Amino acid sequence: MICTSCKQDKASTEFYNGKTIKVYGASLLLPTNECKSCERTRKEVARKRDRKLVLEHYGGVPPKCQCCGEVIDGFLTLDHEAEETKIAKQNESRRSGTVLYQWLVSKEFPPGYAVLCFNCNCAKGIYGICPHQISGSLPLFEVPDPRDHTR
Ligand SMILES: [Zn+2]
Ligand SMILES: [Zn+2]
Ligand SMILES: [Zn+2]
Repeated sequence: MICTSCKQDKASTEFYNGKTIKVYGASLLLPTNECKSCERTRKEVARKRDRKLVLEHYGGVPPKCQCCGEVIDGFLTLDHEAEETKIAKQNESRRSGTVLYQWLVSKEFPPGYAVLCFNCNCAKGIYGICPHQISGSLPLFEVPDPRDHTR
């Protein structure tokens, strides 16, 4: 079987052979004529492209944490509190990672998302607000108590 991407003759086990996958809830038949490694590479390229588009849309160019200004890519993540609220209302399954990036691109970047670094995102998740956003002059005990957090 010849792969249409790399033109190499590969064993049929190297192909997904019309396997059906779910994309945005719809069934999609994968092409049978592309080998697994080409398929993987194509997905990886698409994933990186989607992530870059999303981070640049919500975090600027180059993307940075909207709270502390962190620019190192490995620290950056997407804060999607609005999404979680919506999911809670609509009982949708949670989107994350690749699926979320793809979805945001396909929806032309709906509002309610922000680029945050892991630090700020975690702190916000625990305290409800990142300590960066609380004036540095406040005594430590005025930082919201995580036990008050009701989510
Ligand atoms: Zn191939
Ligand atoms: Zn940050
Ligand atoms: Zn912060």
